[in-house]
Amino acid sequence: MNNTNSNPTDEKVAIIGAGISGLSCGMLLSEFNTNFKVFESSEHIGGLARSFKWHGINCDLAPHRLFTKNEEILNELLELVPMEMKKRQSKMFIRGKIIRDPVNPFELLYKFNPLITFKLVFGFIFKRKYPETTFENLALNAFGRGLYEFFFKPYTEKLLGEKPENISMEWGRQKIRVSGLGDVFKRNTKIFFKGFYYPKKGGYGAIANTLYNKINDHVLLKTSVIGFEMDNKKITGVKYIENGQEKLYKCDRVISTIPSTILGKMLGKDFSFKYQPVKIVYLMVKKKNVTPYHWIYFGDKDVVINRLAEFKNFSDHDTPDDKSVLCAEVTCPTTDPVNDVLKAVYKYKLFKPEELGDTLLIDEKFGYPVYLKDFEQVKSKLNNEIGKIKNLHLVGRNAEFRHIDVDEGYASARSFIQKLKSKAGHKTITAKLNNNEDVLDNIITDNETIKNIV
Ligand SMILES: Cc1cc2nc3c(=O)[nH]c(=O)nc-3n(C[C@H](O)[C@H](O)[C@H](O)COP(=O)(O)OP(=O)(O)OC[C@H]3O[C@@H](n4cnc5c(N)ncnc54)[C@H](O)[C@@H]3O)c2cc1C
Repeated sequence: MNNTNSNPTDEKVAIIGAGISGLSCGMLLSEFNTNFKVFESSEHIGGLARSFKWHGINCDLAPHRLFTKNEEILNELLELVPMEMKKRQSKMFIRGKIIRDPVNPFELLYKFNPLITFKLVFGFIFKRKYPETTFENLALNAFGRGLYEFFFKPYTEKLLGEKPENISMEWGRQKIRVSGLGDVFKRNTKIFFKGFYYPKKGGYGAIANTLYNKINDHVLLKTSVIGFEMDNKKITGVKYIENGQEKLYKCDRVISTIPSTILGKMLGKDFSFKYQPVKIVYLMVKKKNVTPYHWIYFGDKDVVINRLAEFKNFSDHDTPDDKSVLCAEVTCPTTDPVNDVLKAVYKYKLFKPEELGDTLLIDEKFGYPVYLKDFEQVKSKLNNEIGKIKNLHLVGRNAEFRHIDVDEGYASARSFIQKLKSKAGHKTITAKLNNNEDVLDNIITDNETIKNIV
């Protein structure tokens, strides 16, 4: 590889961000005795996949669960953290009814009033074929206008803050993952899974904590990276703020796991990605349990909650008997998320106002990468610009701008570090990419990124 030191142990690597991706890169580099530092701006590790204890209950940053069809990655994660297989218990609340999650179009036909049923059936039978250019068209082709307007349109607008006609079809391919009604019976995908893994102890954050414990000497908390020292097209050092002082970490290579919009600003580049912020409202309820479900989706546009989870149902290890914690995700605009969430839970009679013990609000600016119609062009620009800096690499959800889960972030880190440390792997990919070496040196070796660049 162009700038790789021949002896890998001599190379100094700066990793920006101590979420799953940064910690995974660190742990994997440590197996090669590489000299590295992980810089984390906040006071905690784990990023979006962290957990914290509140009222004696492990709370995740919105519910997280592990489902992957990648056996190798699954086995590595299970070896890292003891986990249990859970049978999915989830529902959807919509128009005053409780229905199955994921949506089963056949159930809708007998659960709702004849007018709604007629619209669903009529919309499906007489559906037109639209060009597959947007999420809207993909959903209309798969389900017809009735079901699209009943569920997919309001839920997408609520979740992403965008009209479905402005969303790329790629989002549809990943999030609907069905091409027609028959496909809803194929129940073994990231959406249609029946069971999932969850750590026995410590919440989902146990994964990040285990990675951290293996490399904690290398991790600097409350340390924000603010820019780079450059020499021609190469980074020679990372500038960071620690205890209010600007410092420099001289290095040979940088792995960035932070949102690409922030990285772009450091490099004087504008990558016009949209990230949807998420407000996470935690409610401590003075009851042993509130629901029997892991999570409940709320399909109506006038209810601010997207999804409500109850952590005790994921793991009740060492939890108090007299309280439970619910967690609501809110992405639609509201000036008072806590009150709006409470209005919704009282409307659905989940518990009584006098049973509320405490509330907590966490605001995450980078909740969801929103796949707008032009996002693939912006991604190409990102890959091209980053590709010009030979020793800068992107790994992770918001860095790569991919709507991926923890298992995929770990897989991305793993395939990148393997590529970095294996000249053979490098040659194979070089051949595929036809001499595009500058770009190649910066990409992650997953198919999606390669496809985008080619
Ligand atoms: C609502 C929600 C639900 C989810 N559900 C699931 C699920 O069920 N299962 C699952 O597996 N995954 C789920 N995910 C996805 C999962 O959380 C992410 O894929 C994963 O946590 C991303 O890890 P990362 O390291 O790539 O990024 P991040 O977690 O974003 O880590 C980046 C880190 O960089 C730090 N940082 C930012 N700027 C700087 C700077 N200038 N200097 C230093 N540090 C900086 C941040 O503080 C952060 O810690 C969900 C995500 C969300 C938001």
